[in-house]
Amino acid sequence: MKNITGLKSKTLIVDKLVGRKPGKRGGQVTTWWETHCERCGAIGEHSINNLVSGKAGCLKCRRKINHLTHGESYTDLYRLWARIKHGGDACKEWGDYVTFKRNLPPLPNHKSTLIKIDKSLPYQPNNVEWATKDDRNKKKIVEFVKKAKEVGMFANQTEQQLIERFQKVSRQRLYELMKRVK
Ligand SMILES: [Zn+2]
Repeated sequence: MKNITGLKSKTLIVDKLVGRKPGKRGGQVTTWWETHCERCGAIGEHSINNLVSGKAGCLKCRRKINHLTHGESYTDLYRLWARIKHGGDACKEWGDYVTFKRNLPPLPNHKSTLIKIDKSLPYQPNNVEWATKDDRNKKKIVEFVKKAKEVGMFANQTEQQLIERFQKVSRQRLYELMKRVK
C-alpha cells in the first residue's frame, strides 16, 4: 500500500489512512485518506486517486467561496484569522473563519488590532476587542498603575491622575517604570 501521509494536494494535507473502500459512485476499491485543509482547517476524506491527481479539494472552502463576496478570503481580516489560528491560541469554534467573523465585535474604521481582553483565556467570543495603538498603550498604563498602587507606589496621586500622567511620558520611560513593579 502506498503511504501518502503528508502529501499536499491543493490546500489539502493528508493526515492519515481511513481505510479501503470504493469511490463515491462505486467502482474501484482504493485507499481513502483523512485530510485537513491548510486554509480553513476543515477535516475531509478523499480517495488516493483524487488526492494524487489533484481532483480533490476542500468542500468547505468551496462552499465558503460561494457565500463570501469575491476576494474576501484575502482581506486583512482573513489574514488576521489565519495568524491567530496558526498561533494555536484560538478557541475550537474559531477554527472556522466564517464563525470567527460572525463572532467578532464590529470592525472599527480606524487602524486597529484584535486583542484579548483577558490574556489568560484564548481568542474566543466575548474575549476580544479592537484596539488602536493608543488604546493598547492606555491599557498597559492602566494595568501598570493598578499594580503600582497595589505595591504602594505613587500613594499621593489617584489612579486617574497617574493614567493621565503616564500617557504623556515616553514609551522608554514608561517601560523603565513598568519594570520596577514586576
Ligand atoms: Zn478549506
